[in-house]
Amino acid sequence: MATTVAILGATGSVGRQAIDVLAAMPGRFQVVALSAWSNWEGLLAAARTVGTKALALVKECPGSIETPAGTRLFTGETAVSRMLEETAPEFVFVAIAGAAGLPATLSAISVARRVALANKESLVIAGDLVTTQAAKRGTELIPVDSEHSGIFQILDGRSPQEVRHVYLTASGGPFLGYPPERLEHVSPQEALTHPTWRMGEKISIDSATLMNKALEVLEARCLFNLQAHQIKVLIHPESIMHSMVEFVDGSVIAQLAVPDMRLPIRYALTYPERQRHEATKLDLSRMAALHFRQPDPGEFPALDLGFEVAKTGGTSAAVLNAANEIAVAHFLKGAIRFPRIVELTRAVLDKHRSGPVTDLETLFEADRWARKEATNWLSCKA
Ligand code: MG
Repeated sequence: MATTVAILGATGSVGRQAIDVLAAMPGRFQVVALSAWSNWEGLLAAARTVGTKALALVKECPGSIETPAGTRLFTGETAVSRMLEETAPEFVFVAIAGAAGLPATLSAISVARRVALANKESLVIAGDLVTTQAAKRGTELIPVDSEHSGIFQILDGRSPQEVRHVYLTASGGPFLGYPPERLEHVSPQEALTHPTWRMGEKISIDSATLMNKALEVLEARCLFNLQAHQIKVLIHPESIMHSMVEFVDGSVIAQLAVPDMRLPIRYALTYPERQRHEATKLDLSRMAALHFRQPDPGEFPALDLGFEVAKTGGTSAAVLNAANEIAVAHFLKGAIRFPRIVELTRAVLDKHRSGPVTDLETLFEADRWARKEATNWLSCKA
C-alpha cells in the first residue's frame, strides 16, 4: 500500500523538488493533498503532475479558478488545516517558507504520523511548542534542512549528553570576503546568485547575510535538544560537508554529499531506509581541497544575533525572524541596501524585552510587534 502524503508549499523551490523526488518513486507514495500560498497556476500544474484531488490556496485569488473535475479546493486562512483534516495523510511534507509555515506545521503534527520539516521557522520561533506537540501525539519529526538532516543521520537517536559540539557549515554566500563598503552596493540579483545551492528567494538572501545560519543554530538547538554552547558554525565554501558531530570521547563524524536538496528530501521521505540514487555521487578525488575556518568576530553580524537569541530564548527568536522577514522583503524590492537587513533586525531585537513563550498567541503578538517596529524603523530611515 502506498503511503499517503501531503506537500505544503508545493510551488516553492523545496516543494517542487519534493514532487520530483516522489515522482521518481512510483507506487511508494500517493500524494493526496497539495497547498500553495498564492500561486494557483503552479498549484494546478503540480496537481496535474501528481494527480491530486485536494488543493489548498491560502490567498484567495480574484475570480474563480477552474479546477479539474472532482478536485476539492480549500481557500483562505484555514485552508491548509481543513484540507489536512479531510484528507488525513499519513505523511506531511512542510515546505512552506517563513513564519507563515507555523500553523501548517502544527496542523500537520496533529494529523500525520510523520512530518518532514523543511520550514525551519516553525522550529526557530516555536521550537518547544512544536516538539512538545509532536511528542504528545507521537508524531515523528524529520528534518529536511541539509545540515540538520546530516546531524539527524549522524546522531541516529543518540543522547545530547554524548555530544560535545555540533558543527553546522556555511558556504559564506556570494559575498564572502567583500569589504563593508562593497556590500553597500550589491544588488538583489547578485544576492540571489548563490555559489553552491539553488534555492528560493528568501533563503538565498538569508544565506548571503548568514541569517540563514543564525536561524539554523536555533533550529539545531531545538531539534537535537542542545545548549547554545554546543553549537558551532564553520565557513566551508565548497558546501560538501554539511555538518559534523564531535562526541564527548573526541570522535568526530561528518556527513558529506554533493549540495543537492533532493538528497535530504529523499532521506526524509524514505527514512530509515536509503533509496538508491546513482546520479548523486560525491567524488572527493576530483576535488582539489575542502576548506574550513571559523567565522571572524564581527564578520557576520547576523550570526552573532543568532547566538545571542539562542542564549536569550523566549520570544526573541520570533522577533529576530519577523524583523528579518520584513527587512529581506524590502531589500528584494530595492527599498533598502544590503547591510540594512541586519542593522534593522538588530535595532528591533535591541528594543525587544524577551518573555517566555506560553502559547501561540504570545508568539503571534511578538511577531506582529516586530513587524510593526521594523516598518517604523524603515519609515524613519527612508
Ligand atoms: Mg540549510
